[in-house]
Amino acid sequence: MSDQELHPLTKAVRTRSPKTLQNEHSTPLYLTSSFTFDEAEAMRAAFADETNDNIYSRFSNPNVDEFITKMCELENAEAGFATSTGMSAIFSSIFALLQQGDHLLCCSSVFGSTFTIVTKYLPKYGITCTLVPANDKAAWEAAVQPNTKMVYLETPTNPQLEVIDLEWAGQFSKKHKLILNVDNCFATPLLQRPTDFGADLVVHSATKWIDGQGRVMGGVIVGREDLVKEIYLFCRNTGPALSPFNAWVLSKSLETLDVRMQRHCSNALTLAETLQSDPNVSWVKYPFLPNHPQYEIAKKQMSLGGGVLCFEIKGGLEAGRKFLDNLNLLSVTANLGDSRSIASHPASTTHSKLTDEQRAAVGITPGLIRISAGLEKVEDIIADITQALAKSM
Ligand SMILES: *Cc1c(COP(=O)(O)O)cnc(C)c1O
Repeated sequence: MSDQELHPLTKAVRTRSPKTLQNEHSTPLYLTSSFTFDEAEAMRAAFADETNDNIYSRFSNPNVDEFITKMCELENAEAGFATSTGMSAIFSSIFALLQQGDHLLCCSSVFGSTFTIVTKYLPKYGITCTLVPANDKAAWEAAVQPNTKMVYLETPTNPQLEVIDLEWAGQFSKKHKLILNVDNCFATPLLQRPTDFGADLVVHSATKWIDGQGRVMGGVIVGREDLVKEIYLFCRNTGPALSPFNAWVLSKSLETLDVRMQRHCSNALTLAETLQSDPNVSWVKYPFLPNHPQYEIAKKQMSLGGGVLCFEIKGGLEAGRKFLDNLNLLSVTANLGDSRSIASHPASTTHSKLTDEQRAAVGITPGLIRISAGLEKVEDIIADITQALAKSM
């Protein structure tokens, strides 16, 4: 069977860099900063971009290339570049392609550091940005300017889990000739492939579900070859490269992403359904619950609902803080996408510096609890959350 006929999920298990003389079954670690050349001519050709030979690990490395190749296969993308963190991927994908005088359209509910980049740093370089509410299609249309170059969004959003219609976003971007750049961190390519709907670029924090065990940081950008080439040159010179060790961990993690995501998502759905009838919870939000405002869109573009859900604890801010203290099994940490279930309370932590009005504007209610469903038996997750809820009233 030729390589072309294999399913992307099979490739995520089987793709690997060429074997060394040791014939090892698993990919070894290539801990080397540079690569040697036997002849001056080979080195000249590599520097002239006439070959794909590795030169220096800031540019490329076999472990990093293996991870990028698998991500391109899973995201159905032409090319990619891997970075040290999700934020360096997001930063590079914007700064490599936009310049002074350009305008960016950005969804108003994006990851906190992304929000800081587009509102604080882009303007310093003469790039303007308009923030648009995720699902206000008229506002997206009205915000387009003659100098608009890129649309940036994430779906589902963090932590409110709003879902943006990717088919619509693809058509909107095409109509206005804009680059569509999608943060696919929450869904992973296993649940949703933005390129199928016309996304030109897909960015990831590989730190979350892709690693899946809270061990390493990483990021990746995949998409249209011409755009990725620009981003590659920007990164090759500015240096946000992914370390070979982290790439090795992340590439191994992709072998199990499919089975892990199925369990994360079924645990999240069962938990969401159970919490709907908990007397201490006023509402539950999860993309695959029929009462989610964009349930139909979620069903159209996602194969499963994802590993994150949120709910409002009755009793607001104080009950939310007590809830964290009363948990025995779940971890209390700001991360998500781990084999261990995690609870967080945005109003008293990640979003505590905002005013009440600012929090309300981004949907952070006082008793909002975000859960990242892990891989434990769902009965144990439910039991811990239910007892902590009861004790927090
Ligand atoms: C965590 C996260 C990021 C940032 O990724 P890092 O790897 O922490 O730099 C970006 N987008 C989303 C949606 C995230 O959850």
